Amino acid sequence: MSATNAITEKQLDTRSIHTTNTVRDSQRSGRRSLTRRDCLRTGLLGAGAAGLAWLAGGRPTTLAQAAQGRNLPALKITDIKTILTAPAGIRLVVVKVTTSEPGLYGLGCATFTQRARVVETAVEKYLKPFLLGKDPTRIEDIFQSGFVSSYWRNGPVLNNALSGVDMALWDILGKRACLPLYELFGGKCRQAVDVYRHASGNTFAEVEDRARKFMEQGYRHIRVQAAVPGLATYGARAGDPPPKNDDTRTWEPKPYCRMLPKLFEHLRTKLGDDVELLHDIHERVPPILGMQLAKDLEPFRLFFLEDPFSPEDIGYFRHLRQQTTTPIAMGELFNSPHEWLSLVTERLIDFIRVHISQMGGLSKARKMAALCEFFNVRTAWHGPGDVSPVGHAANVHLDLAIPNFGIQEAREFTAGEREVFPGCPELKDGYYFANDKAGLGVDLDEKAAAKFPIQDDPPFDYNWGNVRRKDGTIVTP
Ligand code: MG
Repeated sequence: MSATNAITEKQLDTRSIHTTNTVRDSQRSGRRSLTRRDCLRTGLLGAGAAGLAWLAGGRPTTLAQAAQGRNLPALKITDIKTILTAPAGIRLVVVKVTTSEPGLYGLGCATFTQRARVVETAVEKYLKPFLLGKDPTRIEDIFQSGFVSSYWRNGPVLNNALSGVDMALWDILGKRACLPLYELFGGKCRQAVDVYRHASGNTFAEVEDRARKFMEQGYRHIRVQAAVPGLATYGARAGDPPPKNDDTRTWEPKPYCRMLPKLFEHLRTKLGDDVELLHDIHERVPPILGMQLAKDLEPFRLFFLEDPFSPEDIGYFRHLRQQTTTPIAMGELFNSPHEWLSLVTERLIDFIRVHISQMGGLSKARKMAALCEFFNVRTAWHGPGDVSPVGHAANVHLDLAIPNFGIQEAREFTAGEREVFPGCPELKDGYYFANDKAGLGVDLDEKAAAKFPIQDDPPFDYNWGNVRRKDGTIVTP
């Protein structure tokens, strides 16, 4: 026997002892032992009897056992596909990764709603042939190799495609281990996830009224946006149909900058000091006006002011930090670590606010959260309607497990979304609650999804790219 083989056998023997002890320790401590019965009760084995193959013998299954494959067969990726659906009228892209274990699959959010078909192509024509036959439990290696498989990288299409796969692999690992993802991530740091909702209106009174309704429902954090008469104000025109591709909407920054401090003065007077108020500038004003606004809003003690600058103007954050103590959130358009690293390490923002599928998925978001922890930057993952319920579940599992959670943007899921995605996170008393099913805990009913096909004409909401100044100059979204 060669020396190499001897070492390998010794290592295997050590792992065997460790595994046995792990099972015994778990049983002795009374910790939740995830038996076949538990998994059946929680609905984990969606495929019924077909899924029992990966719980051989009905003995307690631990992550260590799964990792070694001692009682479980080796896993392979057998299929990867995208499911495009719009149960709330918003194009969603979900990736489904199927494995060689009967009934064991994972779901991931790859929603880039403005370019849904391009992400579909990136997954099915490029990632699928690269990954078929590989071991889905090698999540980090698949992320790293998938990331460089295109050579050109760090863009929103490929990041979303990779995120869909990455999230699905974490879902598979959780299901195989019979653990919700928040447990795989280290366990709960909190019982539920504090969230904020959007109160928008054409007048200050409308915004106040909507904010009061949320407060009555138990919400403690509310994002407020008001329209500027005659202008296409971000966040204040819910329900308008999109324009034709050559119809423009008009926007001027200065009337908005004059209006906003008055809105906050009104709301603080009417709603009091306890409620936490947030606002999104949405990179709509020149940087110097964004800085002025942050100073003007300081007396109203915002929870955070979001996106005062566009990603192209991040150099302004150093100047902003010296001017005001208004807390700053930034990041939903970020793709690459090069865009956000200096903002965190130089302590120039208070909340990192990325769209997790946009920046590459759960694997990358976990590292981002860990780095932010050491600089006391808190998280505020992007969570509007163009994040699928699968993506919202990923946000919530991470929110539960990281120490530096800040706040979560939340959504009341529609009846259609609940039908297509059984197991959506639940909203109660201003908190998101995850269920305790294994993995992400949310499923996708493909027959129900087919009842809500995405629209290809128009292929996306033409409001994007059609906002201009009065003189015709294009404005960032
Ligand atoms: Mg935003």
